[in-house]
Amino acid sequence: MILFQDVRLISFNPPGVSEPLDLAAGETILEIGKNLAAKYPKAESAGSGGYLSPGLVCSHTHLYSALARGIQVAIEPSKDFAQILDHLWWRLDRAIDLPILEASALALGAEALFCGVTSLVDHHAGPSAIDGSLSVLRQAYECLGIRGLLCYETTDRNGPSGAKAGVAENLRFAREVDSLRASGGKPLVEAAIGGHAGFTVGQETLEALADAVKATGRGIHIHVAEDKYDAVDSRHRYGLDLVDRLDRLGALTDKGIIGHGLWLTPSEIETMNARDAFLAHNARSNMNNAVGYNAALPSHRNVVLGTDGMGADMLEEFKFAVFRHREAQGPWWPGDFLACLDRGNRLLERYFAKDMAQGGAFGVLEPGNPVDLVHWDYDPPTPLEGSNLAGHLAFGVSSRVVKSVAVAGKMRIKDRSPLFDLEEIQAQARVQARRLWNNMEGR
Ligand SMILES: [Zn+2]
Repeated sequence: MILFQDVRLISFNPPGVSEPLDLAAGETILEIGKNLAAKYPKAESAGSGGYLSPGLVCSHTHLYSALARGIQVAIEPSKDFAQILDHLWWRLDRAIDLPILEASALALGAEALFCGVTSLVDHHAGPSAIDGSLSVLRQAYECLGIRGLLCYETTDRNGPSGAKAGVAENLRFAREVDSLRASGGKPLVEAAIGGHAGFTVGQETLEALADAVKATGRGIHIHVAEDKYDAVDSRHRYGLDLVDRLDRLGALTDKGIIGHGLWLTPSEIETMNARDAFLAHNARSNMNNAVGYNAALPSHRNVVLGTDGMGADMLEEFKFAVFRHREAQGPWWPGDFLACLDRGNRLLERYFAKDMAQGGAFGVLEPGNPVDLVHWDYDPPTPLEGSNLAGHLAFGVSSRVVKSVAVAGKMRIKDRSPLFDLEEIQAQARVQARRLWNNMEGR
C-alpha cells in the first residue's frame, strides 16, 4: 500500500487541479481525502507536495528502434519514405535477434517511466526472430513494471512463411495472455493483432489477420496511409481505399489502432469513426519522415498520440503535436491535444476491461481505479488551474519535473531513483547496439 500526502490532484479530462489532498492506494486507488496517514498507518510514504497526475500513455511506438539512436552504419540517402524503409528500417529489423530486442525494450521502457509514461503501445518487427518475440517484450515490460499492448507487425515482404509466422506469433501471444488470466494472473501487458502497413500486407495475409482479430477478440494495430504511396497502391492494386480493405473483412473494430493515417479520404475517416477505431498521430515522426501533415485530425472521433519509436517522452510529443498543428494553422488548441493524450486511457480500457471494476476508468484519480500515477515536482511560476493546465503542459512542464512513478500500485521510480537496475540496462543496451549495427552491415 502506498500513500501520497498533500498533493494537488491533476485531472486531464476534464482538466482540473484539486486542493492539496492525500491519496492512498493498493491494487486500486483506495481513498482520496485529508489526513489519511492515521487511517493507513502501514502504507509506504510515496511522496508529498507538488502534483499527482494519471500516468501518460504512448499509444504507438516501436521499442525495436531504441538502439537506432546515433546509428553508425552506412545508410544510403533516401529520396522518399519507401526508400527510408528500405535503406534503414527494414535492414535494421532484419538484424534484430532476441537479445537485441530485450535490450531495446528495457532501454526505451526505462526511458518511458522517467518521462512519466506508464503505458506503451508497441508495434514490433523483427523478421529474423519472430517466434517468441512478444514474450521477450512482455518479460521486459514485467521486469520494468510498465503497462502496455504488444503485437507483431505481420508483413508479406519476407515471403509467405514470414507472413504466416507473423500471424502465428500474434495468435500465440494473445493465447499466452489469455492463459495468464485464466490462471488468475493480472498481466501488465495485453495483446493486439499487428500488421505492418497496407502496401506490404496482401489479401491472403490480411484475411488471416482479420480472422485473428475475430478469434482473439483483440483489435488490429496497423500503419495505414502514413505515406501517400500506401493509399495510391491500395487503390491501384485492389481498387479499394485502405480502410475499406480492412473493414470489408471485419478487421476494423473499436479496439483497432490505425497508425498515422495522413492520406485517408473523408469516407475512410467516416468508416473509422463509425467503427469507433483509434487514429494514432505521431507528429514528430511524420515531420522526420517528411510524409506530410495530417490536417484532418479534427475530423477523427478518437485521436491518440504516439512517438512512433522516437523516444518515449509523451510531453515532448504533445508539444510537437501542438506546435506542428499551430504552424499548419489548424483549428485545435493545446486543450484539444491534451484530450488526445488522455484518450490513450480509453484505448487501455478496451483491452484491460477484464481487470477493472465495473465502471472503472484508466487516467482518472478516483477510488477503485488503476494506480498508474506520476508525482510531479513542479513549482509553477504562474497560477496553475484546470483552465490553463494544457497551456502549462505545452509551454512549461516537461519530463524534467517527473519525481516518482507508480504503475499498477507499485512504485517504479521514487524521488528520481529507478527501482530497477538502470545502469545495467543502459550498459547492456550499448553492447547490443554495437551488435545490431554490425549485424546490419551487408544486409
Ligand atoms: Zn509506427
